[in-house]
Amino acid sequence: MSVSFVCPTCGNQDPQYIGYLKGKPYCRRCISFRGDEAEDSPLRPKNVILDLKYSLSPEQKAISDGVIENYRNGIDTLVYAVCGSGKTEISYGIIGECVAKGLHVGFALPRRDVVVELYWRLKAAFPHNKVVAVYGGHTEEKVGDIIILTTHQLYRYPKYFDLLVMDEIDAFPFKGSDVLVSLFRRSLRGHCVMMSATPSAKIRKEFSQKGHAILELHTRFHGKPIPVPKVSIAPLFIKYFSLLKRLNEYRKKGKPCFVFVPTVAKARSLFHFVSLFLMRGNFVSSKRAKRAEIIEAFRKGKYSYLITTAVLERGVTVKDIQVIVFGADSKIYDSAALIQISGRVGRKVGATDGDVIFLADKKTPSMEKAIKSIKRSNAFLPGVLRKHSRK
Ligand SMILES: [Zn+2]
Repeated sequence: MSVSFVCPTCGNQDPQYIGYLKGKPYCRRCISFRGDEAEDSPLRPKNVILDLKYSLSPEQKAISDGVIENYRNGIDTLVYAVCGSGKTEISYGIIGECVAKGLHVGFALPRRDVVVELYWRLKAAFPHNKVVAVYGGHTEEKVGDIIILTTHQLYRYPKYFDLLVMDEIDAFPFKGSDVLVSLFRRSLRGHCVMMSATPSAKIRKEFSQKGHAILELHTRFHGKPIPVPKVSIAPLFIKYFSLLKRLNEYRKKGKPCFVFVPTVAKARSLFHFVSLFLMRGNFVSSKRAKRAEIIEAFRKGKYSYLITTAVLERGVTVKDIQVIVFGADSKIYDSAALIQISGRVGRKVGATDGDVIFLADKKTPSMEKAIKSIKRSNAFLPGVLRKHSRK
């Protein structure tokens, strides 16, 4: 059976992932991506009235204009923007322009809880347009002026999107999934805008080629620097003591705190220990039931600390949050993860500063790299933009 077979869905031609049924080849790589596809009916030009609660900073505006210009010139853009820079708002300009022209607009994200959150934000920003959310278990309505979807659902939209915006391109499960990357390419018939605070070297290289551009934004929307992590090296017992001491101080000051830990088991065991000494805390992980309710209660001030795995690494904004990474030297933390975690702090106007503490037995190259990268971004003054593009 040496006939070469290329999967029409995901482009796979690796024989390892090709099965045979009654002598006919089929693709095993994308077999879980089967279901109704969206109807590719033309849209009409729409009236777009953008409703923003506050205006873009001059830096955001410049990047937003750059994205629009690139799109008009047929160039794909990577927006490389620090955590808390207001990446999402940067995409509103091009989204509005494409919706007004009646083009097919999609906004893809790897994780479903972020899809739901973004759905509400875009609904508020584009009150006169039809915004739909598409994710596992929520796929009845697939067509609208703006379609917010998980990267998983892209298989429903072959050669569909004139504009496809994608955030968190370096996040699981999109990161490292060849099939999702293939589905992303397949769903695009126009141009894309990729966004990340921590794009991989590979992606940056890809976007420095012809027909692509990188726009860098190093300032947060409020213009204040990103808090630089402080490293605290301590042996085991001292580490626990140091954690309790800091949590107690934050509690007295009324500052909420996230404690990041490398594993689900560690989240549970550390919580059992800390809760012996400090009341009003909880823990979350991907395995924890009622995670959303616990996070919501935390936001409302019911808890003073929350022990968490990587589930809160991205996309979460809590006013005046402090962050401790307990075991920052764990090998699960690469520099991108540490940058994202540090990026939780100081995001809100009126609370632009805060602590990021790396508690560890030793300093790792990832910790050093994360700190260096944050300092590098902070060295850019507001108003300085970097732009590389090739037509
Ligand atoms: Zn396939």
